[in-house]
Amino acid sequence: MRVPALNIAHLKLATFLGLFGLVLNLYPIPLFANVQLILGNAAVVIVAILLGPWYALFTALFTATGLMLAWSSAHVYLVFLLEALWLGFARRRDFPILYASICYWLLLGLPLMGLYLWLITGMPAYHIPFTTIKQAFNGIFYTTLGELCVVALPSLWHLKDRLVNHTRRTMSSQLSYLFILITTISLLASSLVFNHYFMDKQQVLINQNLDDTGISLSHATETYISTNTRTIASVGKFISVSGLPFEQWQLVLDSVQGLTPSFTNMFIANQDGEIVAGSPLEKLHQVNQLPQKVNVQNRDYFIQAFIHHNTFVSPVFIGHGVNKDIIIAISAPIFKEGSNTAIGIVQGSLDLSYFSNIDNQNQHHETQSIILLDEKQNIVYASERLGLQPLAPFNYVTGSTEYHTRLKLMDINQQEADTPEFIYAHHQLKNGWHLYVLEPFVPLLTLAQNQYTKTIILLLLSMVGAIIIAKAISRLTTTPLALLAQHFSQNKDGSFNDEKFEHELLDSSTPQEIYSLYESLEANQQTLLSHQLELEDKVKQRTIDLEIANGKLKDMAERDSLTNLYNRRYTEKQFLKIQDLCERGQDTIAVVLLDLDFFKKVNDTYGHLAGDECLKVMAQVLSSHFKRDVDLLCRYGGEEFVLVLPMCNSLNVEEHLNQFRTRLAKQIITDPATQNSFSVTVSIGALIADASYNASLDVWLKQADENLYKAKDRGRNCVVCTHIIEPI
Ligand code: GH3
Ligand code: MG
Ligand code: MG
Repeated sequence: MRVPALNIAHLKLATFLGLFGLVLNLYPIPLFANVQLILGNAAVVIVAILLGPWYALFTALFTATGLMLAWSSAHVYLVFLLEALWLGFARRRDFPILYASICYWLLLGLPLMGLYLWLITGMPAYHIPFTTIKQAFNGIFYTTLGELCVVALPSLWHLKDRLVNHTRRTMSSQLSYLFILITTISLLASSLVFNHYFMDKQQVLINQNLDDTGISLSHATETYISTNTRTIASVGKFISVSGLPFEQWQLVLDSVQGLTPSFTNMFIANQDGEIVAGSPLEKLHQVNQLPQKVNVQNRDYFIQAFIHHNTFVSPVFIGHGVNKDIIIAISAPIFKEGSNTAIGIVQGSLDLSYFSNIDNQNQHHETQSIILLDEKQNIVYASERLGLQPLAPFNYVTGSTEYHTRLKLMDINQQEADTPEFIYAHHQLKNGWHLYVLEPFVPLLTLAQNQYTKTIILLLLSMVGAIIIAKAISRLTTTPLALLAQHFSQNKDGSFNDEKFEHELLDSSTPQEIYSLYESLEANQQTLLSHQLELEDKVKQRTIDLEIANGKLKDMAERDSLTNLYNRRYTEKQFLKIQDLCERGQDTIAVVLLDLDFFKKVNDTYGHLAGDECLKVMAQVLSSHFKRDVDLLCRYGGEEFVLVLPMCNSLNVEEHLNQFRTRLAKQIITDPATQNSFSVTVSIGALIADASYNASLDVWLKQADENLYKAKDRGRNCVVCTHIIEPI
């Protein structure tokens, strides 16, 4: 692993983005309860794409610190630094960042988060899957956001030069990636917005419901208490005003209680606190039969009514009489007729089962519970499902540090629990009592989790859909393109396909651009084919011309232009081959040197052109006289000729040369210019030897030249021959 050299510009960019991400992460966007959206990590993604793993790690140090401060949890360093390295290395290997992110969360992020939540935070097991998956999708969301930022800012692209193996991708995979990118961001963003909106609405509704219930129950409670208070006050007043003797008080009580069943019992106590009338009557008898006489003189309701002349509603308490019921006592004074002197009190014990009735009649009863507290915060009534005992002081904790919602949250049982127990609404009654309406919080949390889980499933389905659509689109475009490319490419032999392109994919559904491309390729190919034929004809003609020119060049290089006999250089070269051939067959070779006699005089007498004509005639006679294919006839220079006659009969050569000499002498030469006729003779020196005589032509020629010299010396027009043949 190679750590790159530090680049100050890159470091500055990584720091800037890191600080930006830190600030963003300090304030995660609360969606609902413990669902938060973190966006600062998009900075890490941008750095991972542009600058590779090490700068990404550096940026992640900042952004993770932001989360550390927001969540007070060190695990963020492990999860998000690892993610930064992973994304950086994946990008360096040209792995699409979104796929890299999905892989990271599947392979490392989810297990790490799950372990952390399970082992360190002690979060309830049923919460862990949602919380970890939520984090993974947050990861995918900010990765997509980062990737789109890079795509949208072409000015940053020049930084993307650190790829290890850049592979050209197919259109199908590019389209799939783009589709998934767009699907992910749009689906996640819209679902987050709509879920947020939905949950918000849900919370408003819940709040409203709780409030409505609170108001109606408060009203019912207040009415119940005030009506019954008025009843007691009226009884007190009635007895006071009517001046009824106390023997008749019992009758009054009996008739009142028959009309108002809200009281479990009523009684009238005299100025000494002794109960003198009671309803129902049996209870009074029971009270009177008690071993100890009941006296209520020191009770609050007696003191308040008798001494302070108040109509009094007591806090909830356990009755002291026959039934140890939990009651509320309502009392009112009875005055002496026409005076202000209290002579007793009337008291009623209010039936608390009424609260259970109004609780049960509550239309939202299925999920809502109520708690009614008196002014001392003691429980007057609590819905049965809460398991709270009447009279007990009400203990509760409100608010939650982990769950951020606009709802008021309350714990009454497990005050240390991670998940708040209830959402509540509070109402204070006119008499100083408190009414709490509670709604369990977990169903709402479950609803939110279900919403987000559905979004996640929808996202996965959309990703699959995006891949299928991308494949279909690419089939519509790239497949015809590939077929066209294949059809219009050159064959192995360099030729072009001259058949018409026909394929089922090229039909009316083919995109216009591709069809235009096909048409222009088709037209180009036709033009190309006709050019090719034209070119082939031209090449053929040129080849013939070239062959002719080459033949001419070869001739010019090998032959004498005047006589068309071989030249000296060719002869010297060819002699070695002839010699080699003859040596194998142990044959003889005759090397003959011929020189025209007094040729200078021909030139001088008839002119140079006549001389040339003479040389041509000499060549013609030579060619017609020495006809064998193997004979090599050469103009050696000026009016000198050399013959190399292989595989010749040594005895016949001299005679054949003499015949030639005679034939030439008889040949009349006519000057084409002047029509002057003349003839020439030739002197011949020859050497006839075994092929192996000597490897050098010069040695052979030297001997022939000596003989030629002798022939000249003997008066010209004769042949001098030397035979050097070893006896067989
Ligand atoms: P000899 O019998 O001793 O050989 O006498 P000669 O005159 O033939 O000998 P010499 O070597 O003195 O003369 C050769 C002449 O051939 C000289 C030159 O002008 C002439 N000659 C050489 N090449 C050509 C040629 O291509 N065309 C013509 N017309 N004359 C040539
Ligand atoms: Mg000569
Ligand atoms: Mg000569």
